[in-house]
Amino acid sequence: MSSDLVIVYHRQPYEEVVVDGKTEYRENKSPNGIVPTLKSFFGKVENAAWVAWKEAATPSDPGFDRVVEIEDSFGRYTVSRLPLTAAQVRSFYHITSKEAFWPILHGFKEKYNYDPVDWPTFKEVNWAFAEAAAAEAAQGASVWVHDYNLWLVPGYLRQMRPDLRISFYHHTPFPSADMFNVLPWRGEIIDSLLAADVVGFHIPRYAANFLSAVRSQHDVGNVPRAAVPADLIAEGSALSDRTVPTEITHNGHVVQLGVTPVGVDVDYITRLAGNENTATLAKRFRAEVGDSTMLLSVGRTDYTKGGADQLLAFERLLERRPELRGTVRLLHVSVSANRAMTVYEPIQRELEEIAGRINGRFGSFTFQPVALISRAVPFEELVAWYQVADVAWITPLADGMNLVCKEYVSARTDGDGVLVLSEFAGAAVEMGAAVLTNPFSTRAMDFAIDLAIDMPEEERRARMTLLRAAVAKRDTRHWARDQLAMLSPEKFGEGSAAAAGSDETAAA
Ligand code: UDP
Repeated sequence: MSSDLVIVYHRQPYEEVVVDGKTEYRENKSPNGIVPTLKSFFGKVENAAWVAWKEAATPSDPGFDRVVEIEDSFGRYTVSRLPLTAAQVRSFYHITSKEAFWPILHGFKEKYNYDPVDWPTFKEVNWAFAEAAAAEAAQGASVWVHDYNLWLVPGYLRQMRPDLRISFYHHTPFPSADMFNVLPWRGEIIDSLLAADVVGFHIPRYAANFLSAVRSQHDVGNVPRAAVPADLIAEGSALSDRTVPTEITHNGHVVQLGVTPVGVDVDYITRLAGNENTATLAKRFRAEVGDSTMLLSVGRTDYTKGGADQLLAFERLLERRPELRGTVRLLHVSVSANRAMTVYEPIQRELEEIAGRINGRFGSFTFQPVALISRAVPFEELVAWYQVADVAWITPLADGMNLVCKEYVSARTDGDGVLVLSEFAGAAVEMGAAVLTNPFSTRAMDFAIDLAIDMPEEERRARMTLLRAAVAKRDTRHWARDQLAMLSPEKFGEGSAAAAGSDETAAA
């Protein structure tokens, strides 16, 4: 019980490798992403801890190292590892979180699967996380809890340790009451979140939706609102809002709503984009693409990502514009999900079927219009592809933020390239200079891809300049700084009272 900052995040903040029978903890290979950003804040406090789960055959095994001390380039910190059995992980993570919560968070009621949920196990695992965080936290410490699989942690933690400052961040969308209330456990979830001091979201709409879910259960009276800054409004797009609720008072307790979009590590991607290896890779890829126009799509094999709809749009493109046959190619990277999750099998089959049909209809022995890649492409390689792709075609049906579109823009240090982005990705509110499209409308999808392919260089560059400025403004560091300043202005703010509010809403 000695840490001033405790981060509760399902992934461990390092890679565990066994060398000659001995376990070594190494820094994550990819410095892209939020784990290194979070670790960089460890340097700001004397003692910090991280709580994550680790699978264990027998959780009570005395040989299991529950707490390990790590020293790496970010400093010294404690990692508290919660031993969970494979059955517990499957139940709380793969079933309750992915089969029941995930579809509702993304607005897919028809995919919601209630039957296999074992609610007592979900509660038990969340309780264990709260206990581990409580054991690490010093008096008055700040605890930052991440994502919906730990929804009940703030409530439990408040019961155990009323002295703590608690923040909870959603890395997904948050749906409005009409959708959220499909979850029969809605009361427990909302009450747990209302026990936090800060509840964080990517964009203003998700904070507004959260308020609607709260209001369906409690009378929280009038709620203060702030104007949304102009650079978080993409005119006329589906997820843009004009005002945002800033705090909710319930039973005398004030919960701040913190809106900060997660960004990418722009500095890291810029460095990677400029290094020799990437240049060599990009040169090779460019030679492979030849004179063709290259479209690139990157995502996970998940119904929220709209992969099949996009492939159908590509098929229509080749039908509609015969002059493009043989000159336009699509690299569709759709990374297969965890094998334990059978819900993704039919999606994989559908992608394979459509891609196979397109290649059968429009391809030849030497030319295949679609390359479907189902395995993960290493990030360094992805950056080279970003540099080569004429168009990044990112059209999820629902997406909390979407980092791929921000990575594409960051990698385009040459200032060229076109981004076609779904208006249902959270990132769309920041990226009004992209070609925004509605993936539920075939006409809008057709119009957007035509516009992107035919766009003159001057317009491409003008849009890319705006996009690059937007992505650089809100990178990973901005996100962590903004959210942590709300959680504890004394420890993480700039030392001024202004640091107490989120940048986004305080600026309004
Ligand atoms: N990614 C990768 N290799 C791949 C496909 C994706 O490294 O083959 C990375 C990508 O660079 C991005 C992340 O996976 O950082 C996907 O994040 P995003 O927010 O776009 O979607 P999510 O999968 O979190 O819904």
